[in-house]
Amino acid sequence: MSRPPAIVRLTPGKRILFLTKEPELLRRQLAGELDLRMEDLAVDDLLDDINTDAMTPAWVCFDWDPNEIAKNAYAGLVVDGQRLIPERALLDGNFEVIVSGLRKGVGSSRETAAQCEAYSGIRIAIAASFAPIHARNNINLGTLMGDHEVLRRLQAGEGIPLAEFTRGYDAITRQVIEWGGLFPYSKALAEGKVALPQLSTPPRPMTMAEKILARHLVGVEAGERHVQPGDPVVVRVDGGYSHEFTTAQVHAFLAEEHGPDYTVQNPERFAVFEDHLIYADEVARMRPHLPKIEVLREMQRKFQEHTGVRDFSAENGVSPGICHEVAREQMVEPGDFIQATDSHTCMGGANNALTWGVGATEYAALIQSGFTMVEVPESIRFELSGRLPPNVTAKDLMLHILLRYARPQQTLNRVMEFTGPGVSTLSMDERATLANMATECTARSGIVLADEETFKWLAAWRPGADVARMRARAVAPDDGAEYAGGVHAIDLSALEPMVADPGDPDRGIPSDPTNGAFVSQIGDVRIDIAYAGSCTAGKIDDMLFYHQVAKEAVDAGLRVAPGVEFILQCGSAAVERFIREHGFYETFRQAGARIIPPGCGACIGCGPGVSDTADQVTVSAINRNYKGRSGPGKLWLASPLTVAASAFTGRITAYTPGMFARRPVAV
Ligand code: SF4
Repeated sequence: MSRPPAIVRLTPGKRILFLTKEPELLRRQLAGELDLRMEDLAVDDLLDDINTDAMTPAWVCFDWDPNEIAKNAYAGLVVDGQRLIPERALLDGNFEVIVSGLRKGVGSSRETAAQCEAYSGIRIAIAASFAPIHARNNINLGTLMGDHEVLRRLQAGEGIPLAEFTRGYDAITRQVIEWGGLFPYSKALAEGKVALPQLSTPPRPMTMAEKILARHLVGVEAGERHVQPGDPVVVRVDGGYSHEFTTAQVHAFLAEEHGPDYTVQNPERFAVFEDHLIYADEVARMRPHLPKIEVLREMQRKFQEHTGVRDFSAENGVSPGICHEVAREQMVEPGDFIQATDSHTCMGGANNALTWGVGATEYAALIQSGFTMVEVPESIRFELSGRLPPNVTAKDLMLHILLRYARPQQTLNRVMEFTGPGVSTLSMDERATLANMATECTARSGIVLADEETFKWLAAWRPGADVARMRARAVAPDDGAEYAGGVHAIDLSALEPMVADPGDPDRGIPSDPTNGAFVSQIGDVRIDIAYAGSCTAGKIDDMLFYHQVAKEAVDAGLRVAPGVEFILQCGSAAVERFIREHGFYETFRQAGARIIPPGCGACIGCGPGVSDTADQVTVSAINRNYKGRSGPGKLWLASPLTVAASAFTGRITAYTPGMFARRPVAV
């Protein structure tokens, strides 16, 4: 990463790649036969909605080496089975600008998507608009972003002031861009070469997220700690974690930036996990990538030995559990500010902490320095009342919120706060489902108000912990706190079982209010796979839900429906111990379920539970169902109760207590 000049110009001899909808135009540019100008084209001629999977499919993320990532830039941009940008084409094409249409970088938060361009020599990305997380990754990597008018001016020979590329960003982000990315900026900050913007927010009522950020401000006197949405702030980070998909890059970045003897702050509050790729060998299309996965594991081992962070590696090939589940059981405390390299880090919000996922670059910078830069996000509040009906779970509540509030973008980039008397009717595991799925709502995070149950649960999971300290650090919103997204009352007792149509978690469909069944809403949907697990649905209470249904079915003489594979996977070793000690294991076995060791992978196509063919149908308790993410089949999202009930009927079925004792069973 080098610092951009004060006046940005095109480099003589370097080229511009236009990602055109017309494949032949793209091919000729890559072959060196054609150099286009912006005035030759309309924005409409350029590819829109290039998603991060198209830029770097999951298998490219198995690489940590910049050259390998650059070599496979745009490996997922395929027409008729052929890559539109062949291997090495971007890297060897002498390009410094890449041009596309609307919404560049939508989809998952993977940083490799931005890296594949930066490592190929791209220093300016031009698009009509960028997805927010992808834009952040570009900023962290030092890639400038502009629109098509900027390109027209550059191609006309104009020098464009850097200030035009930083316009509209908060003061710290402007500085990051001016220094050429997050690493050079953090270094300059540590060397005292950068003066941080002065914060001048007067005392004001704050939301839970604002209070946590205010308490973590670096270089601000305790009495002056107030923030408001939009404030650029530098904040201490209490802890975090990475897993084998991401740690290798963190290790490589730190060694490159700070030398092989680099150090990290507070290693006892950070951790590594072996949980996401541990069972990849069970998926046929992942087997060619196993050697690369082994390299990632080895790099993570080196990082852990070098830094001394907590080690949650697999033992004898079995994971100690999913990072998000283990972190909330053992690491995350009320009032904490936690950052980790995975979008479901927000699950820690159930413990009344502020937690969200970041890319490998941001994580490397913060674990080395102990602080990070944040623009204070806006908040949206959900005031819960009443109690969920017996066949409705927190997963149904989140599918309801996704449909009603996330789909019209009310939760976008905001912190979702869950408060109200209804919170206390939910177990801590159910609260974790709320916080976990904040990322599906494209929210910044989710955080749940603490109550007596919070401290009781924490004390039970962490014998000897200083619960009085936890109480003192817990946050509640101030009276008069401002919610840009509004305050929304939800009566839990009025909710119904929900499913989400394959393709997007925000395509929720409630069961028929007249009979509680799904068939009139979605038809008779036969299933091949019922998956019960993941960070969202591998907790103790989820196992209680699965068991409630399985026990009823087994007692009624039923087994898993013919042709259906019912896969159960606990979120952690502790959860698995629970199901063994309580006899659930035996019930699940009698039912014909397949119980696999703790961990995950199904949601990223890297473990048991993925579909193999396009005609397979899955009903799953996981969190997201984007096309192709969990195999080529169709994936319906549902609650743990619905998943278990469907496993026994062989079709998507809303659960009602006692249903298997009755005949016939309504779907
Ligand atoms: S469901 Fe599994 S793979 Fe997906 S984010 Fe959660 S832990 Fe990771």
